[in-house]
Amino acid sequence: VVSFQNVSKSFGERQVLTDITFDVPKGEVVSLIGPSGAGKSTLLRCVNQLDRHTAGSISVAGQSISPSCRQRDLIQLRQHVGMVFQSFNLWPHLSAIGNVMEGPVTVLGTPRAQAREQAAALLEQVGLSAHASKYPGQLSGGQQQRVAIARALAMQPKVMLFDEATSALDPEMVQEVLGVMEKLAESGMTMLVVTHEMAFARRIGHRVIFMVDGQIVEDERPETFFSAPATERGRTFLSRAL
Ligand code: ATP
Ligand code: MG
Repeated sequence: VVSFQNVSKSFGERQVLTDITFDVPKGEVVSLIGPSGAGKSTLLRCVNQLDRHTAGSISVAGQSISPSCRQRDLIQLRQHVGMVFQSFNLWPHLSAIGNVMEGPVTVLGTPRAQAREQAAALLEQVGLSAHASKYPGQLSGGQQQRVAIARALAMQPKVMLFDEATSALDPEMVQEVLGVMEKLAESGMTMLVVTHEMAFARRIGHRVIFMVDGQIVEDERPETFFSAPATERGRTFLSRAL
């Protein structure tokens, strides 16, 4: 579903991704880990082209994206890619169900009644049926993040990107969001998950990509990476992170 071939990315003079190559087949969950500044967020943002890569080729859901492709191609690309960030960014003036319906109604042209039905089902999937008509200000951080996940899923993405989806949450709310992500992974969604929670990275990932300084240093099965990292950098990182 996602393929990177020799992708590099620079901000001006500064190269932050160097020669990144990997494939994520349908249904696979990749945990993306590495120290701060490694380029994890930049890599995710290249998948939906919030950051444009400067060299190499990216393909998402069968669509090839070149560094110079047009705006129209980007709009199409982003419809296939759901993204959940650290901050939830829900629309404050819309209820939970309103937030989930908004994309399908305005972007996909789904009739309101149908969009509402789908949104209700998605809120149920993330355990929020009882809160559908509440506004973001009336929801806890963990609940808001689950609405954000439902909102992304409402666009029927081919791949979901998570960038430290739980880092802004109080500890007691982390688990409910991780639980929703795990259920989604089990349902067969293709996912790229950036996380600082190593136990979670190990549990949810079919594969772990470990990045340092804009490069992939290890691309391994979680059992292998977490029990016997192949590189010194992997060992050092784990000894600090665990
Ligand atoms: P963290 O774990 O702290 O979130 P990260 O692995 O997500 O780190 P990125 O945010 O991808 O790292 O940043 C990689 C590098 O790119 C960093 O050195 C950062 O300063 C740089 N960078 C990111 N965005 C920009 C930008 N818009 N302009 C210039 N440099 C940037
Ligand atoms: Mg980041």
